[in-house]
Amino acid sequence: MKRVGVLALQGAFIEHIDMLRRLGAEAFPVRLPQELQRVDALVIPGGESTSISRLMEIYGLTEPLKKLAESGLPIFGTCAGLIIMAKQIEGQSPGPLAVIGVEVKRNAFGRQVDSFEANLPVPVLGKPDFHAVFIRAPKIERIGEGVEVLARLDGGTVVAARQEKLLVTTFHPELTDDPRFHEYFLTLASNGGHGGSSFRPRRS
Ligand code: GLN
Repeated sequence: MKRVGVLALQGAFIEHIDMLRRLGAEAFPVRLPQELQRVDALVIPGGESTSISRLMEIYGLTEPLKKLAESGLPIFGTCAGLIIMAKQIEGQSPGPLAVIGVEVKRNAFGRQVDSFEANLPVPVLGKPDFHAVFIRAPKIERIGEGVEVLARLDGGTVVAARQEKLLVTTFHPELTDDPRFHEYFLTLASNGGHGGSSFRPRRS
């Protein structure tokens, strides 16, 4: 069974833990550097990326996490979690982990539509479409080499992507009842280097 830490400094971490446990993973909250030693994979939840970054510094997590991320730890970042992982944040310095080759713009959908939902075709998950909940979401504005696009909005905006064992979504898959993104991540995390290739989506 996979031991999956969920960064539990701020934001929607409980929902991730619940969903991972439903899938049979040993999921637990991570707040301290020593707790990182037990993890086979990590989830960084949505919330407020500035608060999460600040708390990561205060708890002494930034450096050890960056080292683990660079050495191949599978990480799933949702919304603010993606911002933490991004190599570039528009108008700011890189995210604290700076591991995934994307440029993001924070709060990019504007005030009027700062929360919305959309049904997304996600080929790696199969049918049906994934019901995605966006809350003050960032936009992935550019992707680098080695980053695979997993889903886009109607207009073409990238909303889910993968770089080896790093998975990111600009929405909150933990806030729906559909576990397929978490299942995909667990498969990615346990495959030796060929993330996702043996994933068989379940019909739900
Ligand atoms: N707007 C938040 C930020 O910039 C992200 C929102 C979210 O995680 N739902 O950090």
